[in-house]
Amino acid sequence: MNASLAALLDTARNLIHQKSGPLTRELVQTPGAFGLGNLPDSVQPDQTTSLVCGFCSTGCSLNVHLKDGKAIGLTPSRNSTVNLGMACPKGWEALSVLEADDRATSPLLRKDGKLQPVSWDSALREFCQRFQNIQQIHGSESIAFLSTGQIVCEEMALLGAVAKFGMGMVHGDGNTRQCMATAATAYKQSFGFDAPPFSYADFEESDVLVFVGANPCLAHPIMWERVMRNPHSPEIIVVDPRATETAMQATLHCPIAPKSDLTLFYGLARILIENNWIDPEYIANYTNGYEDFVAHVESYSLERVSQKTGLAPDTILHLARTIHEGKRVSFWWTMGVNQSYEGTRVAQSLINLALMTGNIGRPGTGANSITGQCNAMGSRLFSNTTNLLGGHNFESIADREKLANLLNIEASRIPDRNSLAYHEILEAVERGEIRGLWVIATNPAHSWINQNRLQRLRDKLDFLVVQDMYHSTETAAIADLVLPAAAWGEKEGTFINSERRISLVKKVAPAPGQALSDFAIFRLVAEYWGCGEMFAEWESPEAVFQILKRISAGQPCDITGITDYQMLDTAGGIQWPFMAGETLKDNQRRLFADGQYFHADRKARFLCEAPRPLPEAPSEKFPFTLLTGRGSAAQWHTQTRTSKSAVLRKLYPKHIFAEIHPDDAERLEIAGGDMIEVRSLRGTISVRALVTACVQPGQIFIPMHYETTNQLTHDAFDPYSKQPSYKACAVALRRLKGGSR
Ligand code: SF4
Repeated sequence: MNASLAALLDTARNLIHQKSGPLTRELVQTPGAFGLGNLPDSVQPDQTTSLVCGFCSTGCSLNVHLKDGKAIGLTPSRNSTVNLGMACPKGWEALSVLEADDRATSPLLRKDGKLQPVSWDSALREFCQRFQNIQQIHGSESIAFLSTGQIVCEEMALLGAVAKFGMGMVHGDGNTRQCMATAATAYKQSFGFDAPPFSYADFEESDVLVFVGANPCLAHPIMWERVMRNPHSPEIIVVDPRATETAMQATLHCPIAPKSDLTLFYGLARILIENNWIDPEYIANYTNGYEDFVAHVESYSLERVSQKTGLAPDTILHLARTIHEGKRVSFWWTMGVNQSYEGTRVAQSLINLALMTGNIGRPGTGANSITGQCNAMGSRLFSNTTNLLGGHNFESIADREKLANLLNIEASRIPDRNSLAYHEILEAVERGEIRGLWVIATNPAHSWINQNRLQRLRDKLDFLVVQDMYHSTETAAIADLVLPAAAWGEKEGTFINSERRISLVKKVAPAPGQALSDFAIFRLVAEYWGCGEMFAEWESPEAVFQILKRISAGQPCDITGITDYQMLDTAGGIQWPFMAGETLKDNQRRLFADGQYFHADRKARFLCEAPRPLPEAPSEKFPFTLLTGRGSAAQWHTQTRTSKSAVLRKLYPKHIFAEIHPDDAERLEIAGGDMIEVRSLRGTISVRALVTACVQPGQIFIPMHYETTNQLTHDAFDPYSKQPSYKACAVALRRLKGGSR
């Protein structure tokens, strides 16, 4: 063991040891803490300090109240430009989910079929030995990682750098593939960079808001609160097959047939063109491809669109007229668009509507994708998965050489290819090409589409490592090695929210047992692997933030004007871009006010394509369409965290359920509360029936949060973003014998 490795381990051991003792200033000042130990210098033991929430991409600021160095409660920050003093139930319970019996507190190694506690030293030796053996036999590309939008930017960047530049991996993707890849791809193709243009102030400044496949009332409650505060009595249009909570409060709900959205938006474009309800000056000055787009939408007659979507012609005309009459029209979308086999083109059909009507770059406008996870935007810019760090391109020699210079490494260490996408990594596992997998802060055995297929892949892996705050996730339970990680609130770094705002996460609680911050784990992996020297400058999250600033210089996401964490803290977060020399005059900034986009010609592009057939349409045998989505504001993804809060558990149904239309229920002799079987070509599950007209006849809805939902879903993917299409597959139903209440 070399000296620096010994020192690193020593520091880690010391801090692990001391962490269980009283919190002291000496500990805070321990050098090389890597986010370990107790409170950082910036946090006093008896103060109230603000940090950004670690659940969703809204990025609410929360005031955490400390007493004797212990977090004893939290309240939403009143002065935050993001949440204006509000928080949803998850935010209020953010601290309580840290205290759970199933927190991973020690490394666990599978021996004789059982996961058993081992020291960090043994765990890290095993980690490196097993992965290096696999690489020696099967080549460097035979190991890969699957990461997350839940860890801080600095950890994402360090992981991507250690794995790809240090360990020689080419393939690593994030669970952001499941939620944001479509929006990222759509923006890149249309604008020349993955650049959501909006600011949350736009919720309050629009006079027409069009929500597509989005249920912010549940999924982003604070954003929805801001819509409710809009003083302009706005038209709120919801395009969604279900009568969601948001749709119920809209001025117009368009209950389209599942996956007919692309046809609807091309039809709307045709009506706008026919009536000259467009902005010719904007189109001429700031866009490309309009002529081809006009030719493309020519065939989307009102009759065709009505027939495909199930909407009355008058409704479609009313929708087009409302967009025309709006002075500040904003288009918002989330997973109903992104999680689709043709999501990129649907997102771009909304971008096209914004461009052709000049509804972009002005207050209250925009084609706006709302992100899911707290740091999905950070992952898009700084995870080193689909992009080389800072929105650079792995395939560009110039970009690789630029990054090599900035990082003081050899350019040959940077892969010259993009990573396989998430499902392609899994397919490579299935083919036996990838034999070792490192899963960080995500739970694919629960969340991945067509779950049974994923679980069958376990036997194909020679070594599965899971790094997580809980040892009880479905994926951790099948791992060979579990590395215990600190959670949000137990470490430092930055998140980037949906409106591109970079905000600070602070350490306000000690991690339990021997859990280490992901940052510390990545650093230790680099040391044990033998590439620690490469990352000498990456010594703390804030040091990495300075590296990311350097990398961002001259990019659309330039953040060289942010001096340090203190500046972020004082400002309550800063939206990118913020270049050196800029003054922070307005802390609500949107992109494209000057009509200048990021393609070489500075113009945005109209992009379109004929709709594709539904990958799995309802049939005689499977006559229902299954819709999936969020179930309540108190649940988060696979519930690994939200299920730990007694308060949150009271706010959502314990058992999985399916919404069924009353006509279907009557025909199948199903009453509310009956147990029913839901069957697809991939699996069969039991759920409780909830009879409601919120779903249309022929459709059922099951929340995504329950562990069996994805036994049904069909693994189809968008060809551009490679995002899975969770939202529509064919299923059959029947009431289970003896299944009534
Ligand atoms: Fe946290 Fe999102 Fe709730 Fe805000 S809306 S408190 S960021 S979970």
